[in-house]
Amino acid sequence: MDAKGLHAVFADQLKDLYNAESQLVKALPKLRDSADNSDLKDAISRHLEQTKHQIIRLEQLFERLDEKPTGQECFAMKGLIQEAYDVGRKHYAPPALDAALIAVLQRIEHYEVAGYGTARSFAKHLGDEESANLLQQTLSEEAQADRVLSELAENEINSRAIETGAAAG
Ligand code: FE
Ligand code: ZN
Ligand code: FE
Ligand code: FE
Repeated sequence: MDAKGLHAVFADQLKDLYNAESQLVKALPKLRDSADNSDLKDAISRHLEQTKHQIIRLEQLFERLDEKPTGQECFAMKGLIQEAYDVGRKHYAPPALDAALIAVLQRIEHYEVAGYGTARSFAKHLGDEESANLLQQTLSEEAQADRVLSELAENEINSRAIETGAAAG
């Protein structure tokens, strides 16, 4: 069997992203329900809808490449989601819980930004401009989701979190 090249790496990266997004579609509703702040809940709901569309976009890519989106589990996303669930078990006061949720959600968005940035770069090197464009659309959404979370944290949640709860526990 011939050793596999960049096409195979590209396809495997897309499978990893597909599995990661599929995990998120299940996890985001639970994380939204565990959040306290209504603006944070709304932000998570909006990104959940975007995430469903990102999955459709990846399915379009698999169609283009004549590949199936199976056979790859994203262990990193599994771990990040586990950390997000753990936030709910730490007995934080509600605004502190929101701050901690945002901390994990931003790690998730950064992880996705890294994955889509790399995949877009592979698509460009393979001369597949249309795939690169699809990946750029999702990349922009992930970066925007990260900015929204930063603004929520900096404009309201962090300052409220500082006023509540004991200093250490
Ligand atoms: Fe995503
Ligand atoms: Zn992964
Ligand atoms: Fe780490
Ligand atoms: Fe995302």
